[in-house]
Amino acid sequence: MTDSDKAKGYLDPEDWAAFRRRAHETLDRAIDKMEQAASGRVWTPVPEEVEAGLVKALAMAPLSAEGVDKALAELLPYGVGNTHPRFFGWVHGSGTPFGLLPAMTEAAINANCGGRNHVGLRVERALVEWIREVFAFPEGASGLVMSGTSMATVVAMKVARDAALDFRSREQGVDQSRLVAYTSAEAHACNARAFDILGLGSDALRRIPVDAGFRMDTGALEEAIKADREAGLRPFAIIGTAGTVNTGAIDPLQKLAAIASDERLWFHVDGAFAASGQLSERLRDKLSGIERANSLAFDFHKWLHVNYDAGFVLVRDGELHRRSFSSRPDYLKGTIRGLAAGDPWPVEYGPELSRGFRALKVWAHITEFGPSRLGQAIGMNCQLADTLAGLVDGSEDLERLSPVETCICCLRYVPAGGEPINLNALNEEIVTRLHESGIAAPSTTRIHGKLAIRVNMTNHRTRESDLHVLLDAVRALAPGAIEAVQQA
Ligand SMILES: *Cc1c(COP(=O)(O)O)cnc(C)c1O
Repeated sequence: MTDSDKAKGYLDPEDWAAFRRRAHETLDRAIDKMEQAASGRVWTPVPEEVEAGLVKALAMAPLSAEGVDKALAELLPYGVGNTHPRFFGWVHGSGTPFGLLPAMTEAAINANCGGRNHVGLRVERALVEWIREVFAFPEGASGLVMSGTSMATVVAMKVARDAALDFRSREQGVDQSRLVAYTSAEAHACNARAFDILGLGSDALRRIPVDAGFRMDTGALEEAIKADREAGLRPFAIIGTAGTVNTGAIDPLQKLAAIASDERLWFHVDGAFAASGQLSERLRDKLSGIERANSLAFDFHKWLHVNYDAGFVLVRDGELHRRSFSSRPDYLKGTIRGLAAGDPWPVEYGPELSRGFRALKVWAHITEFGPSRLGQAIGMNCQLADTLAGLVDGSEDLERLSPVETCICCLRYVPAGGEPINLNALNEEIVTRLHESGIAAPSTTRIHGKLAIRVNMTNHRTRESDLHVLLDAVRALAPGAIEAVQQA
């Protein structure tokens, strides 16, 4: 082997000065992209030649430095669009440019946060303590930064499941456990999926009907628990939602906590986006009862705008949490001193061993903005949802389909006079045309069977003028959409 062949086995730059220039240029392009977040199209489909280029690059690898940089720069316009102020779809956070800074620090440290004795665990521990206090959980509560609420729910429900079965389920499985739990008909699908993943089966999660405000009907809940007990089943948990995905409704958390306490059930809260409302004057009272939960799952990447991805699971009794996940074979044994110290290790609280330093960007985000400013951004979004509801209510050709409790307004376009038309098909077509126009990106859902244009505001870049642009675009695209639906 020659010296230059040997050098190829090392993956660090040969020319650090050249690498530094590349890194600065890449950073500049990223900052440019974020500085221009409010201009241009919301969503742009990925052009065929860009996709073909991705495949070709792998076949041709390694590319030159210029080739790699050019290929990366070419990707920047083709994201989901959630950095744009007129992205109103699903529930996506809009991120901030400040996220670039911890992302670089995180990459430079390249820590594995499954365990061991290093700064990654200290940052996460500081964050867990801060969150524990935000939600007024007792000392001894535990938490873990996760990829999102879906995974946080799996962890929380595993603790609930294992606690209900005296932890024998860890070795013996859950065959014939007869465990059942309850959530509302408006709950997010990740809850049923957690039951599927945990071997309980999604049918074991009962869907309780909702009231006129789309909140769980607690009378129906009590009846369902009674009926299941009489049938010889074992109720073990209630899952309340703080911020439903369809309409943004918040379940009566105090009442759910009381029922869970009376019935000796685990009380879990899916607070994916609206639990963040704990930082907002406007929502804090509506969330009352969240502090009584046995576990809480929520996201930093939604209404707190930490760049993707970051969610969290908070468990009231840290000992139960640890008993549900801890198992350390010899090669992972801890010590009192040295790099193998740092007890407890995150691997004892979740399914992952190797895990990145997600906690850093969350910690940096909170230290950058502070809780009150993050809460203000949430309050502003609620205000915008109210404003939109007012605009819809004052329009002849728009119909509002749900009350506004947090940040979501569901509406539909109803053409004045004219011939009868399939309104579901029409509104679906309008939303697709909005996406393709690049003007705005709401999503759709069904409210009492009616297809809704669902406008969600978890976007700190949205201004009132964006709402007018959205409604103007709905009206401008409607004639073409009507024609298309009539011809179909
Ligand atoms: C988004 C969402 C989830 C799922 O969270 P992920 O972070 O996407 O895994 C669960 N529940 C509700 C209410 C949500 O809005």
